[in-house]
Amino acid sequence: MLRRIPLFAAIVALAAVPAYARTLVHAGRVIDGASERPLERVTVVIEGDRIVEVAAGYLEPAAGDELIDLSRHTVMPGLMDMHTHLMSQMSKEAYTERFVLNPTDYAMRATVFAERTLMAGFTTVRDLGDDGQVIVSLKRAINAGWIPGPRIYTAGKSIATTGGHADPTNGWRRDLEGDPGPREGVINGPGDARKAVRQRYKDGADLIKITATGGVLSLAASGQNPQFTDEELRAIVETARDYGFAVAVHAHGAEGMKRAVLAGVTSIEHGTLMTDEIMQLMKKHGTYYVPTISAGVFVAEKAAEDDYLPEIVRPKAAAIGPQIHKTFARAYKAGVKIAFGTDSGVSPHGENAREFVYMVQGGMPPMKAIQSATMEAARLLRVENELGSIEHGKIADLVAVAGDPLEDIAIMSDVRFVMKAGVVYKNE
Ligand SMILES: [Zn+2]
Repeated sequence: MLRRIPLFAAIVALAAVPAYARTLVHAGRVIDGASERPLERVTVVIEGDRIVEVAAGYLEPAAGDELIDLSRHTVMPGLMDMHTHLMSQMSKEAYTERFVLNPTDYAMRATVFAERTLMAGFTTVRDLGDDGQVIVSLKRAINAGWIPGPRIYTAGKSIATTGGHADPTNGWRRDLEGDPGPREGVINGPGDARKAVRQRYKDGADLIKITATGGVLSLAASGQNPQFTDEELRAIVETARDYGFAVAVHAHGAEGMKRAVLAGVTSIEHGTLMTDEIMQLMKKHGTYYVPTISAGVFVAEKAAEDDYLPEIVRPKAAAIGPQIHKTFARAYKAGVKIAFGTDSGVSPHGENAREFVYMVQGGMPPMKAIQSATMEAARLLRVENELGSIEHGKIADLVAVAGDPLEDIAIMSDVRFVMKAGVVYKNE
């Protein structure tokens, strides 16, 4: 459901919101992100970028008010994806792109991925790893109103250890690989770890991402070995705390995942081989789980194709991909806190909402799945006072689908209306 809105339309949309203009949204059904039950026949009143009233029934617009009729739709808070990579998208060419594309090429393409994401109803994303430059620039351009896209919280360049999942020179010819350090997001020892966190602060990142275990798509043998020591993890978490950064942790294998949870990180991403013990530790420490089932499904599909993934990647993708879905089902049952995240950029941008279907297949009720992408995601980002629900005083991010997603979760992939901070970007 991609509809391009040219730049001038976005500017017109921005210009069309004079100070104190009110917009009244007549919503047939509202899933507000906070309540356990939907509300029927509600008016959401928006002034500037804020929700100023949520009223029962359909209020009559006063002179000068704009009325948006979503009386045959279900209206929800803007959706939030806690794991994207807007800089890239997986393809057969992905492994050679870095030798032929400049950062400017990546940035231009990222504007397209950002727009697709917004038009799919995702008004906020947490972007977990780029080259250290592209997404900070993309975020600035979106915030300035130059291009349409979601509100971005970016980790900048992920932090790894030498040869680890986010070492940017894995698999390269020896004379090309150099010796990347904290600036490039490669650390060895607690001193490097502190320096790498501080470099991200300097780069303009909003949080820290580390790759605590091997990964599926990197050109390395293991997809699950632990790749940080306890000392390194402690140095990262303590330094991140000084700068107000959350720490998001890529982890497939149990040992690296457990070390990260014990070090006090904020979220575990993928969590493929999560044990019952780790689930209990996460509950105890309040650690979030961001499942990214979409990535698991996508890489398992591609592992079955010839000539798509490099040979060193293929067996990892075949083994780890399907496992994530099972782990999600167990973690939900165990009561681990779950926030919605897709790893889009592995799976195609704009198809983020497929994750809802996978979550419901894994045993999560549709209402909980929607909350995981609204209020729970806002809590993970520590912005629950501003985003995540349709309530008085919150930023006016609204999306709508035709029909009832509690009856058919698949319609989350067909978002018809998108408002971000009071500005309408899509209204079909
Ligand atoms: Zn990722």
